Amino acid sequence: MTSQEHDTTYPLAAPEANGDSAPRSNFIREIIDEHNRSGRFGGRVHTRFPPEPNGYLHIGHAKSICLNFGLAQDYGGKCNLRFDDTNPVKEEQEYIDSIITDVRWLGFDWQDRLFYASDYFGQLYEWAVKLVKDGKAYVDHLSADEIREYRGTLTQPGKESPYRNRSVEENLDLFERMKNGEFPDGTCVLRAKIDMASPNLNMRDPVLYRILHAQHPRTGDAWCIYPMYDWAHGQSDSIEGITHSICTLEFEDHRPLYEWFIQNLGIYAPQQIEFARLNLTYTVLSKRKLIQLVREGYVRGWDDPRMPTISGIRRRGYTPEGIRLFADTIGVAKANSTVDLALLEYCIRQDLNKRALRKMAVLRPLKVVLTNYPEDQVEELEAVNNPEDPDASTRKVPFSRVLYIEQDDFMENPAPKYYRLSPGREVRLRYGYFIKCVDVVKDAQGQIVELHCTYDPETRGGTAPDGRKVKATIHWVSAGHAQEAEVRLYENLFTVPDPGADETRPFTDFINPDSLDVLATCRIEPSLAGAKPGERFQFERLGYFAVDPDSTEDRLVFNRTVTLKDEWAKLQKQQG
Ligand code: ATP
Ligand code: MG
Repeated sequence: MTSQEHDTTYPLAAPEANGDSAPRSNFIREIIDEHNRSGRFGGRVHTRFPPEPNGYLHIGHAKSICLNFGLAQDYGGKCNLRFDDTNPVKEEQEYIDSIITDVRWLGFDWQDRLFYASDYFGQLYEWAVKLVKDGKAYVDHLSADEIREYRGTLTQPGKESPYRNRSVEENLDLFERMKNGEFPDGTCVLRAKIDMASPNLNMRDPVLYRILHAQHPRTGDAWCIYPMYDWAHGQSDSIEGITHSICTLEFEDHRPLYEWFIQNLGIYAPQQIEFARLNLTYTVLSKRKLIQLVREGYVRGWDDPRMPTISGIRRRGYTPEGIRLFADTIGVAKANSTVDLALLEYCIRQDLNKRALRKMAVLRPLKVVLTNYPEDQVEELEAVNNPEDPDASTRKVPFSRVLYIEQDDFMENPAPKYYRLSPGREVRLRYGYFIKCVDVVKDAQGQIVELHCTYDPETRGGTAPDGRKVKATIHWVSAGHAQEAEVRLYENLFTVPDPGADETRPFTDFINPDSLDVLATCRIEPSLAGAKPGERFQFERLGYFAVDPDSTEDRLVFNRTVTLKDEWAKLQKQQG
């Protein structure tokens, strides 16, 4: 199946890293501009990124991070980082730490505004007491199942709980005793008293607090009742003076509830704005599914380079600049859509092309002996570090009698249109000489073990004085100088564009068994020695590669970040 066959919408103009050109307008910016004109927030723009620390961040979160921090930057405003840590059962310090690392790495700064919803537990409790006193909240002893049953459906109104009309005094007493730990988990909950017949299910007396005798990463055992996300979220925004609470579309139906809370508490009101979440082909962007991939061992961890997590794509070699370019390119919309993974890769390539140093590396080595090249001679050939770099700096690459080339740059019986090396044929070695294959040496099993070639000393620098041409240029390394390295090649983690689409089968059925290919005997040019984890290079003709933290002093490990093949351009062409 090609990426064409599913619903994919994206801007078709080729994205360019747009340096300091003005940001493109979108419906969110229009709302902010309107507020600035009307003076609703006195010209302030204050956003926040509010992750729940129950997993690692993924590329979808990156879209939200770039949006929230980006808007604050563009409007000279502020953006907070706030952990929505209201569910101690699923939240962990490890996730908090990883989120802080990831947002920083993407290039954003919340200055001194790192907040936690748990900072507001006291205030939220007081507000709940106020609702109780105002007769707008009650303690309900229905079980969780009964509450669900009483809620009704989209077509049927809900039923009022028999506990709904308890007196204010009784509710105050019960709620305080809930807080004081007098009841076991699940005994009762605090609910808002709104409207069990509302067409919006969120308004049918939502639960505000549940009893959870659980240790919280930040508040320890200070609390045994915890606010529901809906009760904490809007008020946290209000407390922080957030002007624009930007969230994904599924919260559109929650907006009336958040506004009800704000109104009935009589507190400052932010403006909530919903946008479409990012969906990406050939991957999953749900924390629940990502956790499953990690726990069940389908990947090596949260930072496995095949994962769409920020830590995974960082390890793979994606750059913050490339990810920000991607976020700018996809923009924001009001309708859900799926973005092609090829566009993300295009943006990463776009960024790496400008900055990555070019190197030569051979992934699947085939030995070549230049029979007419002097035994002990070594030449230092001049190679360009990055043709995109205006300084056009160069480095020396050693050349000698024994080289390695790529196995697939040789065919004993060349297919039609195969122009690379074959018996009797001449090709150019990048930055070097023309060579011609004169003999193929095989082992007892008939496997090719080495090639014998001659080189033409007149062709140093890649041109022949007699003007004869060759049809291919191939890369190489000098066998005596190259270092051995491990290279990990990746394919999509899933074999289908939307692994979640078929509800009758688990998404793990669509895992690509060939998503990782480890090549343990690669040879890399000597100037790569000492490269540090995180450094990125282009291996000529092979793609962009990043040094993996598994590297040791004497053996580097690389991840292929992206190939050089521009699948995105191909898609655009197909779409005409
Ligand atoms: P959960 O389903 O566990 O709540 P979540 O992906 O919504 O997962 P949050 O930690 O609540 O996780 O997300 C933090 C912020 O990132 C939210 O404001 C959410 O709107 C935004 N976000 C999450 N996923 C995406 C996505 N795919 N595209 C854009 N924004 C996203
Ligand atoms: Mg969420």
